[in-house]
Amino acid sequence: MKPSLEQLKEEFLYEKTNRCVQCGYCLPVCPTYVTMRKETHSPRGRIHLIKMVGEGKITDLSALEQPLDLCLGCRACETACPTGVEYGSILEAARAAMAKRKKAFRSGPFAAESIAEKSHSKSSHDEMVRKCILVL
Ligand code: SF4
Ligand code: SF4
Repeated sequence: MKPSLEQLKEEFLYEKTNRCVQCGYCLPVCPTYVTMRKETHSPRGRIHLIKMVGEGKITDLSALEQPLDLCLGCRACETACPTGVEYGSILEAARAAMAKRKKAFRSGPFAAESIAEKSHSKSSHDEMVRKCILVL
């Protein structure tokens, strides 16, 4: 069953994303942004994607998959943030919400493709960690 917007807001901690004022102070301290120079791989971009899910502007959650998978979870962005965005808890909630949906998907008819997708995602994550270590 399709989740309601209220359910998504709750699961993805939408209210907490409202603290982000998009100032960008977190960008220079984020290893994935420094490495890839892509807004979707920055703390601000990830928060924005999650916010759009809560507002019903993103309905295909696969748009969040790579940005969230590649986040190192180092929380350097939290320390740099002047408005106290709780990035760590937002990330954990979003990952849990995504995992819940993936699990339901995996038990469906596309299970094999989903597993292949997961192993691809793990290798992308490993590659990102290697690149970030070189940058730091
Ligand atoms: S520093 Fe904080 S408020 Fe500014 S863009 Fe990053 S998360 Fe948002
Ligand atoms: S937790 Fe680390 S890698 Fe993830 S967005 Fe924050 S600074 Fe970037």
